[in-house]
Amino acid sequence: MSRRTSVSRLTSIARCGTAYELERVQRLPSTPAGWTIQGVAIHDAADAWEKSGRTMDVLNAQEVFKRSWRAEIAKADAKHPERSKWLVGGRKKVQNDLVDRYNGGLEQVANYIEYNKADDTLRPFTMPDGSVAAEVGFEIEFGGVAVLGYLDLLMENTRTGELLVRDIKSGSKVPAVPFQLIVYRMAVADVLGLDVQWGHFFMTRDGKPTRDIDLTTLDVEYIQRWFVRQVELAERGLFLPNPGDACRTCGVAPHCPLMK
Ligand code: SF4
Repeated sequence: MSRRTSVSRLTSIARCGTAYELERVQRLPSTPAGWTIQGVAIHDAADAWEKSGRTMDVLNAQEVFKRSWRAEIAKADAKHPERSKWLVGGRKKVQNDLVDRYNGGLEQVANYIEYNKADDTLRPFTMPDGSVAAEVGFEIEFGGVAVLGYLDLLMENTRTGELLVRDIKSGSKVPAVPFQLIVYRMAVADVLGLDVQWGHFFMTRDGKPTRDIDLTTLDVEYIQRWFVRQVELAERGLFLPNPGDACRTCGVAPHCPLMK
């Protein structure tokens, strides 16, 4: 059987090997953060709107956000009841951060819908079974490794028929290398046998996508080797800390030997 991994495992180990070990090998509890809760709720609302064939109105999409938010907050409370110790960006109090993220999330859901309704040329692709190509599960294999994940959206230009993969990002940073989109491209080729040239990140804070990125220019085999190496590093327990910027948003910092 192939060794299994995912895009999030690769990004996690690349960010800090020690955090990977604490969270994913030792399975120590991670401190909740409002940005994670907000990100899940925005994804759920955008997904529900796309899966409705874009017929759901803004208020109902915002209701999906609210339900998802409440569920994520309840899970975080159960794991870590002391909210005052949750992670926040900057110097805010946790409660203020949560209020801002709740209101900001509702606004971002409305903005996502508004942007996509204003230019309806790009619409979700229709899968062979008639479903909307949103949150499509995949498992692609190479080099004895299986990468599992969900494709946020496969889009189709209704004028030209050209395909594009979309990843919805609620954070502020655009990834320096769009390898997640390249994995999506591999998944579309594997699942549907279709070639996708373009991809973009829909940055919900900006209310619009990045420029379209040509996914055919990067060396796919080079990126596949990253996944194989990530699995090898994890299997051999080669975890190195990466103290620095990553520590500010690290959920397992309370367990980190460098922070004691
Ligand atoms: S606190 Fe910093 S060095 Fe320690 S596990 Fe987290 S990111 Fe890594």
